[in-house]
Amino acid sequence: MIDVLIVGGGPTGLALAARLLQFGVRPRVIDKHAGVLELTKSAALHARTLEHLRDLGVADTVLAEGQRVDVLTLRTGYRDRISVDFRTLADTAYPFMVDIPQARTEHLLIDLLAEHGVRVERETECVGIEQHADGVRATVVADGRSRTLEARWVVGCDGSRSTVRELLGIGRVGAPYADDWVLCDAVVDWPLPRNEMAFSGDTEGIFGVFPLPGDRRYRLAYTATPGVAPSIEDAQRGMARTGVDGTIRSVDEFWTFSLAHEQAVRYRSGRVFLAGDAGHVHTPFGGQGLNLGVGDAMNLAWRLAAVLGGADPGLLDGYQDERHPVAAEVIAFTHRGAQAMLLRGDPRRHLRDAALTVLRSSERARRALARRFSQLDHRYRGAPGTGGRAGGLVGGDRLPDTEFFDGLAQRTRRLHDLLPRDRHTLLLTDATQADGLSVPDSRAVRLITPDWAAAHADRGVPTALDRGRAAERLYGSAYLVRPDRHIARIGPAGELASVPTAPVTREESR
Ligand SMILES: Cc1cc2nc3c(=O)[nH]c(=O)nc-3n(C[C@H](O)[C@H](O)[C@H](O)COP(=O)(O)OP(=O)(O)OC[C@H]3O[C@@H](n4cnc5c(N)ncnc54)[C@H](O)[C@@H]3O)c2cc1C
Repeated sequence: MIDVLIVGGGPTGLALAARLLQFGVRPRVIDKHAGVLELTKSAALHARTLEHLRDLGVADTVLAEGQRVDVLTLRTGYRDRISVDFRTLADTAYPFMVDIPQARTEHLLIDLLAEHGVRVERETECVGIEQHADGVRATVVADGRSRTLEARWVVGCDGSRSTVRELLGIGRVGAPYADDWVLCDAVVDWPLPRNEMAFSGDTEGIFGVFPLPGDRRYRLAYTATPGVAPSIEDAQRGMARTGVDGTIRSVDEFWTFSLAHEQAVRYRSGRVFLAGDAGHVHTPFGGQGLNLGVGDAMNLAWRLAAVLGGADPGLLDGYQDERHPVAAEVIAFTHRGAQAMLLRGDPRRHLRDAALTVLRSSERARRALARRFSQLDHRYRGAPGTGGRAGGLVGGDRLPDTEFFDGLAQRTRRLHDLLPRDRHTLLLTDATQADGLSVPDSRAVRLITPDWAAAHADRGVPTALDRGRAAERLYGSAYLVRPDRHIARIGPAGELASVPTAPVTREESR
């Protein structure tokens, strides 16, 4: 019996498989295509996804190969309206975006799986699903032959036209967009800085220019001119929507997409889940889709691993409780953003421009937009199993990845690096709370200030000394942190130490 069968080896399915492997669960991954689709789709990896990729062990390669983008500029009526500067992102190791072709991200994850002996089973299509009390019988077709695979859990990561979703009879809410979009990778003489991505709208439509790695290479994404086949000439005409004097020198290949804003009404039916585009699709405004799918994978993986290890299956309900509202919010945000950029000749465009000008003058608003695009603020406040608050943080929030100088290790470190990635951790932030507690070493880390260093530096719990009190707002409480770096609970250490947490990682894989 397969523990987890992943249908679809796109970015979501691959990230899910890689994360499950870290917990000692060996998934099977099937994909109907013969290889990675070298389609021109996603390019943008945001800060939260880079954090996830760091936990998976591929972020450094992505950073080395990708194009760093610091600024996202929205232009309407041929003028800069607002520039969102990702360098303002606090408490993350990645205050920027990285542009890298989706296919490259997929190849990196495939290589990672291969290192652990897991290969994507290609040209294998899921065509049937039957559920029974203890598992799922999936019918797959490979080499023209049909066979069944028995799995305890199945995750449909099979994209926007998800067969798994259809087999489960899960409906979607939303609607298609009237506009088709054209995407291409191109060599462009483009006068704006290489660290800036520009998204422009005028009376004809939208035109986005995203820097890619490589000399003068850019990804162009624009609403198609109705009835006109994509060509360099048409793309060049479209570029006039930016008001920037760029020249397209060559294009690799054109791709035309129709888009929709749609969400599956639920992400689960019995032992089968939906993740990634199978659950949600929206416009490319702000480059959110792939990032959202990786976030789904990181949320679901530790739950599946814990339940396979014997935890209460109710833990799996949290996936829908937490990820469904997050995606709904992204769909609404990207819908509003794209609609506003697509007002064309509508008189309301003047209001939009005025509103953007007001936002531009507010540093707070620009910072908030950067956090929103970065997905760092995706949080699960109020979800079952979360609770407590302190210093502006609430149970369900992502733990800030504060940088601090560790006086014990004598080097600069990040808070997330203190926490193991494969289990729940009790983060103790001062000495007194932990006195008299019997917390197994493997479950706790301690962050202390100089005030406590002398008396409490070594009590058998891994300890870091926050010399400059950089993590000031964390002090005074303890935090139960999940393997996905979200805070489950905040409260007194004694209380949190007694919260039962299911082991996520199989002992033999530690
Ligand atoms: C035009 C466009 C531009 C985009 N730009 C961005 C961007 O800039 N940033 C961003 O974050 N996102 C962007 N996206 C979205 C991003 O590409 C998707 O969100 C991402 O590909 C979703 O990944 P996934 O793994 O969920 O699904 P997919 O990438 O669609 O992968 C699904 C996989 O499932 C396989 N499959 C399907 N059916 C079956 C079956 N029955 N059996 C077995 N295998 C099956 C497919 O072969 C495929 O490999 C863009 C999308 C489009 C269309």
